Amino acid sequence: MKPLIVANWKMNPSTLAEAKELFNGVKNLDAVICPPFCYLDSKIRPSGAKFTLGAQNCHWEEKGAYTGEISPKTLKDLRVKYVIVGHSERRIYFQENDEMINKKLKAVLKFGLVPILCVGEKKGEDAKTIVVSQLEKDLSGIEKEDIKKIIIAYEPIWAISTSGGEICSPEYSKKMFNFIRQRFDGKIIYGGSVDSKIINNYLEIGFEGALVGGASIKADEFVKTVKCAENV
Ligand code: PEP
Repeated sequence: MKPLIVANWKMNPSTLAEAKELFNGVKNLDAVICPPFCYLDSKIRPSGAKFTLGAQNCHWEEKGAYTGEISPKTLKDLRVKYVIVGHSERRIYFQENDEMINKKLKAVLKFGLVPILCVGEKKGEDAKTIVVSQLEKDLSGIEKEDIKKIIIAYEPIWAISTSGGEICSPEYSKKMFNFIRQRFDGKIIYGGSVDSKIINNYLEIGFEGALVGGASIKADEFVKTVKCAENV
């Protein structure tokens, strides 16, 4: 099956002109692009773009007095298909806890969107203990049939955005892939400084795709990364 490659643009680019240029550079890719909310508007995307849209976050309520938040219903209306939930940057910088993440997952599923649930440990933490606790709490009360629709992104936090620094070895990530697979039947992807040079290391050991941050905001590098993945 074709790997699922997801671009997380995070809070980039910072101007509309740059966003349009980046969209143009990746418009022929069979990938998921998660830009900042304001660039989800269909008028901004190049016509005939092949990619699918994803969002980086959403609230669990459909509407209401939640300043600065976005509803899953709004995302659905904007033709978004995927929503990243529980990214480590949301957990760390915005104090998102497992209870909130659980509510978000339920809301995303309710609106027929596909959640990409991020799990992973910080430096020095025991990966298996953290991941099993996140999975138990985040998926609590979700029906078996719905759990299958979720995509799990295993992202060791110490390997995210390390710009050439710490990279998670294939042996380590394989151990975690197997550990998650024993508990979860759905799609499992990998994230952590993935680019065209290392993506195949993770796909070859069983990950069914990748969540790509830094390398997704350079069009040439992201195109290369997706092409490499297609040849595994
Ligand atoms: C991410 O944002 O989920 C991510 C993995 O980022 P990077 O590729 O920059 O490590």
